[in-house]
Amino acid sequence: MADFRLSDSEQALYERAMEFARKEIVPRAIELDIANEVPVDICQKAYEAGFMNLHIPKEAGGPHNTLFEETLIYEAMGYGDPGVATSINVNNLAFAPLVIGATIEQLQKYVQPMITSEKARFGAFCLTEREAGSDASATKTTAVRDGDEWVINGTKCWITNAPVADLFTVFAQTEPGSGYKGMAVFMVPKDAGVKIGHIENKLGQRASQQSEVIFENVRIPEDCLVGEVGRGFHIAMMTLDMTRTGIASIATGVCQRALDEASRFANTRIAFGKPIIRNQGISFTLADMAAKAHSARLATRHAAWLADNKLPGLGMDSAIAKLLASDYAMQNTTDAIQIMGGYGYAIEYGMETLFRGAKLLQIYEGTNQIQRIVIANELSKRAKTLDTGFRLNYPGVDAPDHSFKQ
Ligand SMILES: Cc1cc2nc3c(=O)[nH]c(=O)nc-3n(C[C@H](O)[C@H](O)[C@H](O)COP(=O)(O)OP(=O)(O)OC[C@H]3O[C@@H](n4cnc5c(N)ncnc54)[C@H](O)[C@@H]3O)c2cc1C
Repeated sequence: MADFRLSDSEQALYERAMEFARKEIVPRAIELDIANEVPVDICQKAYEAGFMNLHIPKEAGGPHNTLFEETLIYEAMGYGDPGVATSINVNNLAFAPLVIGATIEQLQKYVQPMITSEKARFGAFCLTEREAGSDASATKTTAVRDGDEWVINGTKCWITNAPVADLFTVFAQTEPGSGYKGMAVFMVPKDAGVKIGHIENKLGQRASQQSEVIFENVRIPEDCLVGEVGRGFHIAMMTLDMTRTGIASIATGVCQRALDEASRFANTRIAFGKPIIRNQGISFTLADMAAKAHSARLATRHAAWLADNKLPGLGMDSAIAKLLASDYAMQNTTDAIQIMGGYGYAIEYGMETLFRGAKLLQIYEGTNQIQRIVIANELSKRAKTLDTGFRLNYPGVDAPDHSFKQ
């Protein structure tokens, strides 16, 4: 029988993560957003609490958490602040292509030291370039083989945590001009000569930091190649199918936080002699916000459950989860500001920080237009074998007979 309850250990994990968010993140969210830096001290606490590096297998020193467990942790982190959540979450993104494509020996050599040191260490996921955003196959960074080394040249941009990272997961062309077919993925240690360029300045989620990453004749040993040459694009897409649930979880946390703050405000704020929650115009908005937080959570946990159980449909369902949860996060924070009136618009009440942070959830790890493309492609495939029970063929190229017969 289907069971929607969390197990005892999942419930305990969720509560521990929520306590962390309320104690460590919420009180500092505004100050950290103003700073526009990686909040290394909170990341350290999250690392010690076991909220980073979730999917590394046990043989390489990791906890091998499920994707479902990740949704519980990152919903809580997003509840605290989506920027802090992004900073903490990026190692999961950076290491996912390595978990998918690298051997255990490679993980032990390059990733294990990163996740077992006393201090939190950071990875960075380097896919985007100035002329290759949504269209990742337009990557221009090159990797050329020279004896038993690879030589990397190119510049990545918008790379989260890059300024503090020690290991860069880099997507590069081994056969320039051959699009997605010529891509490969590499692990590039910082001390191989990686340089940090322009630091991006941005609207929200300023408790995370992004920069350019510059590779100028960076030489790495041949065992830094992850999987086979030509598989890089495929590994990138498999990675994003999984990691989208992480973004959807952060968005779910934002949905819930916006609802909780707006409910608290509406319950105590008096206008015309009564709490504003007693006006249907306010309470119905709160009810819609609750429905959105609930739908975001269900869609997200369902996609993660599919992945953990290796069931088909992850690509489409994780795209749906990311699309719904991030759109709802934007809508709930917008509605929360409206309910909180001028206080929603003021920095010190926190909702404007959350509102600015929510916007990014619709953009990174595949914009919501790209999520719609993923969903629509799958719909188109499924439509070919879809039986609705309706027996009249629609007009079309393959329809044998376009005329209506009784
Ligand atoms: C704060 C932040 C953090 C980031 N972190 C990372 C990171 O750690 N690593 C990394 O590699 N990248 C990262 N990114 C990059 C991010 O993934 C890209 O910004 C995103 O994929 C979109 O690419 P773009 O900005 O180049 O927009 P473009 O691809 O230029 O798109 C511009 C607009 O056109 C739309 N569009 C494009 N193609 C289509 C289409 N076929 N149909 C309909 N609409 C379309 C897009 O949806 C978008 O609205 C980050 C970005 C930001 C802002």
